[in-house]
Amino acid sequence: MRVVVLSGGVGGARFVRGLVDVAEPRDVTVIGNVGDDVEVLGLHVSPDLDSIVYALADVNDDERGWGRADESWRAFETVRALGGEAWFQLGDLDLGLHLVRTQALREGEPLSAVTRRIAEAFGVETRVLPATDDRLRTWLETPAGRFPFQEWFVARGHRDEVDGVRFEGDAEPAPGVLQAIAEAGLILVAPSNPYVSIGPILAVRAIREALEARRAAAVAVSPLIGGRAVKGPADRMLQRLAGGTSPAHVASTYAGLIDALVVDEADADDLDGLEVRPIVTQTLMSDPDARRRLAEAALGAVVA
Ligand code: GDP
Ligand code: CA
Repeated sequence: MRVVVLSGGVGGARFVRGLVDVAEPRDVTVIGNVGDDVEVLGLHVSPDLDSIVYALADVNDDERGWGRADESWRAFETVRALGGEAWFQLGDLDLGLHLVRTQALREGEPLSAVTRRIAEAFGVETRVLPATDDRLRTWLETPAGRFPFQEWFVARGHRDEVDGVRFEGDAEPAPGVLQAIAEAGLILVAPSNPYVSIGPILAVRAIREALEARRAAAVAVSPLIGGRAVKGPADRMLQRLAGGTSPAHVASTYAGLIDALVVDEADADDLDGLEVRPIVTQTLMSDPDARRRLAEAALGAVVA
């Protein structure tokens, strides 16, 4: 059975890693967020695509949650010593990838093609597609003003409350995205931030329409445990933008797009108002076994 997964960075990559341990990696297509792509030091950085590729290639730093294991920071130290752009940390190993991608993009290669080349070079069999090859950028509206995603998230430490999320760019799906959705036997939404990781994917109108018109079942995994984000601002955003952090509030961000929601046991008593089928299990991806069990629970939705 072919499976499509919509994914952001950290939570998404952990989930996708577990998924390819229990499903045939070549039957899985990941559609990744590019709304938080950023130019740093003249380089095109695609943080979420890279988190996914690094996790699938087993070269990711599990503890930090982003970037590569055994990373060193010598180039970055030089940048800082020279008074260069140092608000966004880039490790030496990571930089190598950004150099290759940036050159390819400048020569006119689409992001989807470069990503494919990079994933293949890392030995990744799973298809990793950017949602779009076009420019799509996430902006946050906050009481302190309007910020591009990484300025809000990294430079300002996502401390500003979010009043709204906007997407810049009129983007078409990358080649292969719509076909993968059409051919999927199951559509999964990783436990990623609904607003700033999955939101930009759904902002590509043709992707949203394809998901609305799906024949396959679609299952999202909640990124909240006990109403709290494991990491990051998802809980605060849900509270402010959806009015709460229950499974029903999480599901409301995917209205019309999912048939079931995987929720943690800690949220099992809080299912009031949930209009999609709950699948209750432990959802903390603390180790490879936990990741696999969560993937199995989500995959089980088709036979259940
Ligand atoms: P980002 O692009 O790096 O911000 O990553 P994602 O949006 O893909 O993932 C961030 C989300 O993952 C956060 O909302 C976390 O709550 C969630 N998350 C991280 N680890 C886990 C986990 O082990 N279980 C669950 N259910 N969610 C997790
Ligand atoms: Ca991200």
